[in-house]
Amino acid sequence: MEQSAEQAVLEVAAVRRHRHRAPLRHPFVTAARRTEAVEYVVAEVELAGGAVGQGSAAETVAVTGEDAASILAALDGPLGAALRGARGTIGELSARIAAAMPGATSAKAALEVALHDAWARAAGRPLVELLGGSAVSTMRNDMTVSLEEPATMAERAREAVAAGHEILKIKLGHDIAEDRERLAAVVEAAPSARLRLDANQGWLPEQAVEIITGFEADGLPVELVEQPVAAGDVEGLARVTAAVSLPIMADEAVWSAVDAHRLIEARACDLLNIKLAKTGGLRGAIEVAEAARRAGIDCMLGAMMEPRISITAAAHLALAHPAITMIDLDPPAWFASALPRGGIVQERGVLRLSGGPGLGLELLRPDVDAEGGGR
Ligand SMILES: [Mg+2]
Repeated sequence: MEQSAEQAVLEVAAVRRHRHRAPLRHPFVTAARRTEAVEYVVAEVELAGGAVGQGSAAETVAVTGEDAASILAALDGPLGAALRGARGTIGELSARIAAAMPGATSAKAALEVALHDAWARAAGRPLVELLGGSAVSTMRNDMTVSLEEPATMAERAREAVAAGHEILKIKLGHDIAEDRERLAAVVEAAPSARLRLDANQGWLPEQAVEIITGFEADGLPVELVEQPVAAGDVEGLARVTAAVSLPIMADEAVWSAVDAHRLIEARACDLLNIKLAKTGGLRGAIEVAEAARRAGIDCMLGAMMEPRISITAAAHLALAHPAITMIDLDPPAWFASALPRGGIVQERGVLRLSGGPGLGLELLRPDVDAEGGGR
């Protein structure tokens, strides 16, 4: 963190929010849910002095328990009240958001990101620099292949590799016999790709050990396996991690630094997947990354199926923190529209920031959504 900007006293002049809906190019399917269009809310923070920042929260009821109505209720209620008219440093104001109510991690992330965007815009600097990183760094992104019929997954994998992606994230976790067929179809269609598997809690520990050791025996090009078992089954996750050679990543099991410490203590995983919508924003995400760094564990920065504002915020943090060595930030490629412009640029699977103060994004107007209509 940059000290002078960290110590600046900010005054919040206004907190606003508006609702949007954006269709996806293809349905996004995991072991937990199916999504064809994303309902999301943009939170906006204006500082005294005029800097305006934005953050966003997508409804992901099956993951965070939040829908657009609950996100709006949180922002109109305790979260907005915690910030409206408040004075303090960026750390103090972020702490007010975190403490304002239990849960509501997506809504908190939207507001806390908006605050950080406004803070960095007021300082005239890209957010990544205020978080300790460089605005010219890049990272290789992956492309997710939804959980579908093997032939459909093979086709999506082929398309992603043709578009320059070297890393594919393959959604599994439905049925282990079918999962083997899905992965075989993907490997045949995209033999050069490095694969990240995500079961989204879909396997029992014994099934996970059986299927993962099978993939190892077959020498498949898998680099990690994400959340093979139920989020609450730390002991089961530890058993899988001990029994297989491939690195196991915790995702749904890690929402906070407290979770990270518990998983690390139990040797339950080799890697952590951080998402701003789970940690309630950047500060909580940094706490998880710090816990990982102290334990010598690498992190991936991922996201829900969230709009470009959320993904850009995640990219700024990923490029700033040394424990974050992988990104899974492909949602912008899923959206039928790129609104708002700026923030991030991706070429042949490599992601960089577009530059400019704050998140580097054009502000999204309340009367614009990806379908061109107002709401
Ligand atoms: Mg995951």
